[in-house]
Amino acid sequence: MSDLRDLYQEVILDHHRRPRNFRKLEDANRRADGFNPLCGDKIHLYLRVEDGIVRDVGFEGSGCAISTASASLMTESLKGKSQAEVEALFGQFHDLVTGKSAPDPAGLGKLAVFAGVREYPVRVKCATLAWHTLRAALQGSLETVATE
Ligand code: ZN
Repeated sequence: MSDLRDLYQEVILDHHRRPRNFRKLEDANRRADGFNPLCGDKIHLYLRVEDGIVRDVGFEGSGCAISTASASLMTESLKGKSQAEVEALFGQFHDLVTGKSAPDPAGLGKLAVFAGVREYPVRVKCATLAWHTLRAALQGSLETVATE
């Protein structure tokens, strides 16, 4: 179990150091901003959605390792998904980090690295910030999402 934990930590640190899709999307047609006042995490999320499918996604912002890695891994998992699939993934991810149900690693893929977050309740908001912002972007809300 500790090997797995080390591996998870490594993935999170790697995505913190070199966040994927860390760019402004010039042709975005959905966007939203998120803020986690508890930790100071900020995210600007950009999406290009066509025919209900996420075609491209990018983000900018600054925050702790968990929030940056979560946004990075989230953007990697979204492309080609329908809005319904994104909602389902959000639900699974939320259950994983809040400990509401046993994680389903097969369904979550790399996102399973956040399983350890459930042991640190204050970090749950860091891990879910990008996802709440994603939801706001898909719903077309232009207000800043705050986790508090
Ligand atoms: Zn944070």
